[in-house]
Amino acid sequence: MVKAEGVHKSYGAAHILRGIDLEVRNGEVFCLVGPSGSGKSTFLRCINHLERIDAGRLSVDGHLVGYRQKGDKLYELKDSEVALQRRDIGMVFQRFNLFPHMTALGNVMEAPIQVKGESKAVARERAERLLDRVGLRDKMGNYPTQLSGGQQQRVAIARALAMEPKLMLFDEPTSALDPELVGDVLDVMRDLAESGMTMVVVTHEMGFAREVGDSLVFMDGGVVVESGNPRDVLGNPQHDRTKAFLSKVL
Ligand code: ATP
Ligand code: MG
Repeated sequence: MVKAEGVHKSYGAAHILRGIDLEVRNGEVFCLVGPSGSGKSTFLRCINHLERIDAGRLSVDGHLVGYRQKGDKLYELKDSEVALQRRDIGMVFQRFNLFPHMTALGNVMEAPIQVKGESKAVARERAERLLDRVGLRDKMGNYPTQLSGGQQQRVAIARALAMEPKLMLFDEPTSALDPELVGDVLDVMRDLAESGMTMVVVTHEMGFAREVGDSLVFMDGGVVVESGNPRDVLGNPQHDRTKAFLSKVL
């Protein structure tokens, strides 16, 4: 679903991603862990072309992100073509970023209506189903300020799912939540994983990574230091940098 080969990204003189190689297979839960500043969020943002890579190749579902190849030349996609690529990729951030002036239901209905031109009736039906699925059947009419952080994050997940993405990106979705609210969000993510969704998850929740993850990559300094089955990498890390990181978070 996602293939990265030698992906580099700099911000000015700061060389952040230094040759990322990885592959996310269809239907898998791919966990990305590593210290602050190692480039995890930057890499996620490259996957949906919120950031442009400087070198290497990055593709989603067999299509180069942001480019079209003809022969051995690359052509940048137009904004409208990039928007079309992004439709298939849902993203959930650390902060919930809900539209504050819309109810939970309105938040989930918005993109299909605005982006896909869907009818209100169809969008509403799906939004109700999704909010029910994330356990918010009785909160559909609440505004974001009337929801807990965990409930807002579940609305954010439902909102991303409303676009029927092929791939979901999660950037530390539970790290801004009070501890007692984390479990409900992880349960929704677990349910989504069981439904077969392909997910790339940046997280410090090692329990989730171990139980739900199919693959785990440890990143440091903009490179993949170690990767494999989460139980193996977490239980028996091979590199000193991985060991040092895990001794702090486990
Ligand atoms: P964290 O665990 O703290 O979220 P991270 O692994 O997600 O860290 P990134 O957010 O990808 O790290 O940042 C990697 C580096 O790139 C950091 O040093 C950061 O300061 C820098 N960086 C990120 N975004 C930008 C930007 N838009 N302009 C300049 N530098 C940036
Ligand atoms: Mg980050």
